[in-house]
Amino acid sequence: MAEQRSGRPDWDEYFLKLAMLVSERATCPRMHCGCVLVRDKRILATGYNGSIPGQPHCDDVGCMIVENHCVRTIHAEMNALLQCSLHGVSTKGATAYVTNMPCTNCAKALIGAGVAEVVIFSDYHDTLAEEFFASAEVPLRRIAQPGVEIDYDLASFSSARRVRSESDGCDGSC
Ligand SMILES: [Zn+2]
Ligand SMILES: [Zn+2]
Repeated sequence: MAEQRSGRPDWDEYFLKLAMLVSERATCPRMHCGCVLVRDKRILATGYNGSIPGQPHCDDVGCMIVENHCVRTIHAEMNALLQCSLHGVSTKGATAYVTNMPCTNCAKALIGAGVAEVVIFSDYHDTLAEEFFASAEVPLRRIAQPGVEIDYDLASFSSARRVRSESDGCDGSC
């Protein structure tokens, strides 16, 4: 599988892979989720599940469990929508690429924010998202998980330079 390299990722793979990358910043050990909001093949915002800005992270102080869910974090989809809210970006007609099936509340928020399509590769227990998307006529597409490797090979591109070490004085711009 890892040997297969069929060229550039298509758009779906590109944005879902970005969502996977974004999820690396998640701060709750129970779930790492990433979301990328896209319109016309342009990224509007990204989000991962993490604490309210300035407040302690689950990774540092433990989860805050209520009815078997951690409630400390703002979910990835909500954080992406909130970033749009902070910067005055309309999400009408956007596509949400999410690593996991949204929870019920995030599904409702995405629908309410005018998101027109949701793309995922992984399911999630305990959610009414699919029913809400169906009743709102928001298409939900499940696609195969994109490759887990990122093909970023500095050695293949002569104009890119690897930073060799701290000691040789190269800061990457040489
Ligand atoms: Zn947590
Ligand atoms: Zn959620």
